[in-house]
Amino acid sequence: MRITDIRTKTIITPLKKIFKTALRSVDEIENICVFIETDTGVTGLGCAVPTAVITGETAMSIKGAVKNIYENLSGLDVRDFEIVMQRLHSCMVGNNSAKAAVDMALYDIIGKFYKTPLYRFLGGDAKRLETDMTVSIGTLEEMAFDAREVVKNGFNILKLKVGIDPDFDVKRLKAVRRAVGPEIRLRIDANQGWSPKEAVFFMERIARENICIDLLEQPVHAKDYKGMKFVRDNTDVPVYADESVFSPRDAMEIIHMDAVDGINIKLMKCGGIYNALKIVAIAESAGIGCMIGSMMESHIGVTAAAHLAAAKKSITGYDLDAPLFVKENPAQGGITYNASAITLPDLPGLGVHSL
Ligand code: MG
Repeated sequence: MRITDIRTKTIITPLKKIFKTALRSVDEIENICVFIETDTGVTGLGCAVPTAVITGETAMSIKGAVKNIYENLSGLDVRDFEIVMQRLHSCMVGNNSAKAAVDMALYDIIGKFYKTPLYRFLGGDAKRLETDMTVSIGTLEEMAFDAREVVKNGFNILKLKVGIDPDFDVKRLKAVRRAVGPEIRLRIDANQGWSPKEAVFFMERIARENICIDLLEQPVHAKDYKGMKFVRDNTDVPVYADESVFSPRDAMEIIHMDAVDGINIKLMKCGGIYNALKIVAIAESAGIGCMIGSMMESHIGVTAAAHLAAAKKSITGYDLDAPLFVKENPAQGGITYNASAITLPDLPGLGVHSL
């Protein structure tokens, strides 16, 4: 089952409305779909999205990297999976989103070859995946209204983007908490927006307001592991790393510093499922939590993340709402949603087809 070609195709999918975080504002997704052809006729599909402010990768760089990866993988037999993966990750540094798209396509091929859905190939059962839902940044009234609608539509866990204006963020959290009541779980994500002291002060303020939250994601700059530790040591709320952890090595370093309670794994950061499995193993061994998230991505990449999530018991949090923001699935198949519950396709490989 030798690799005979790797090509890319760009598909733009508009979002239902603008998505805003402390780092950026987006109204469409640029899907760089990757197809790997083999001499047996089995084709693998993967997808990368450029998120330059986080990964440093653009659409052009992803396409260039995939070309380089093809030159290194051409002629290899996908069944020699370990050799192929070693080559993928050693042929160039960085370019993790490009590598993730190739990695997904390789797992898709291997799942198709063994005629088994990817989550089963990875050792999983069809466990229930309950995604949170992000409430976009808006006015207090808009956010309270949106939060109420999201809960009405069957979501029990809400995620709020913060980190731009601490005073307004406290008001937003209060408005949302009041709108949805005490039972709904809230996660907040500052996307590196605060200094360590600002983060701790913010957490003290919301504690004084009796606003309970589940989890605080990436309060400070990605590289500031000491700052992450300072926040973790000074709040009762679990602190999760997102932008701070790309690679398995990052996971080891941040865990070694006792700087986080958990890691939000994203395939676009770590280079795909192969490396994500290593991060899961490191976190599990260290006794810290794992959740899985995605960039603003459509069904293809998020389906790959869902297969991984379904395969690993120690991944207990799911932030896989991104496809719910896109106007139209750019592919056929993949995961489906019934409110917050995600169902995986029971087809071989990723279960995404016909573009
Ligand atoms: Mg995040």
